Amino acid sequence: MSTTRDYYEILGLSKDATESEIKKAYRKLAMQYHPDKNKETDAEEKFKEISEAYAVLSDPEKREQYDRFGHAGIDGRYSQEDIFRGADFGGFEDLGDILGSIFGGGFGGFGGFGGFGGGQRRRGPTRGSDLRYDLTVTLEQAATGVDTTINVPRAENCETCGGTGAKAGTSPHRCSTCQGSGQVTQARKTPFGTFMSTSTCPACHGQGETIDDPCPACKGTGKIKKVRKISVKVPRGTDNGLRLKIRGEGEEGSPGAPSGDLYVVMHVEPHDKFQRVGDDIIYEQPISFTMAALGGDVMVPTLHGKVKMNIKPGTQTHSILRLKGKGMPHLHGNSNGDQLIKIIVKTPVKLSGEQKELFRKLQQLEEGPDVKGPKGGKGIFEKMKGAFETGI
Ligand SMILES: [Zn+2]
Ligand SMILES: [Zn+2]
Repeated sequence: MSTTRDYYEILGLSKDATESEIKKAYRKLAMQYHPDKNKETDAEEKFKEISEAYAVLSDPEKREQYDRFGHAGIDGRYSQEDIFRGADFGGFEDLGDILGSIFGGGFGGFGGFGGFGGGQRRRGPTRGSDLRYDLTVTLEQAATGVDTTINVPRAENCETCGGTGAKAGTSPHRCSTCQGSGQVTQARKTPFGTFMSTSTCPACHGQGETIDDPCPACKGTGKIKKVRKISVKVPRGTDNGLRLKIRGEGEEGSPGAPSGDLYVVMHVEPHDKFQRVGDDIIYEQPISFTMAALGGDVMVPTLHGKVKMNIKPGTQTHSILRLKGKGMPHLHGNSNGDQLIKIIVKTPVKLSGEQKELFRKLQQLEEGPDVKGPKGGKGIFEKMKGAFETGI
């Protein structure tokens, strides 16, 4: 997810918009914010945002997830790549190259997608693509911070051919289709008129070179998938969606070009006891009837160990007590959020004979000697009637 705005709002649609309304709205905005046409500085960002909104809302499954859970339903389920995977950009061929050039360099690229021209290597040394790795930690680990190692598969230059893709003793030669430019220009008819559009050369896939004898080790791609062990320092106070950038650990660039970066996207598992709200932790503490009335001490679990907490006499159920500084550490800074304790007074359900006796006594003290418990005796209405009769 790169935007936190409402997808419907981005496309200017209502929640019950039809498929064709979604498509129409996207086309209109995409033309408006087409970075080639719109020179405002945030045009590209806007274009990405509307494309993401379209990718989600045009896919019935993703749209349902989004309708039910909002961004959390998309963010927690799909990577940036998955959001666009399978999205129908058919009919927007005139935008394809733009989509490709904008998204091509990020998050592993979108090569091979219908309508997307990007993702392939361009001619000359190209920086490696960025990679995304989703890492899940427990709430406890997020609270203390943790050092961990992840295994990240990435493309590296083939050692056999030095990344050229050509068999030993041979070398790639200039592509005759594009004369080595890696791009071809074509006239395209669209409902908006004829556009001259430049796209990736289909013969050399944009590399400007073709290979007669492919290197057997990498099958001519020049790249080999390797798994690398990467150390990750998960900081204290980590929250969902935090991105840790690890420079140079993305896909390896073509020979002579720098590698991409690795983005580790953090996810924090939900906890069975603690609920996190920002840097505060909410915890429900059950206490007995008698403790609520008489007060006493309880041991309350926190992310930083157990803490003794005093319950004042006469504590009501659902009252909130605060343990200062016992919440999550602030990601930036040295202090912590608080733990908020919601008191739940438990009404006893199974009473022993002795307990029952004591409760009856208590009841009589509270309501007077006329009350004889559940069986017989004066009910509340009779008591009220009695009160009226005596003229109170
Ligand atoms: Zn090779
Ligand atoms: Zn070519």
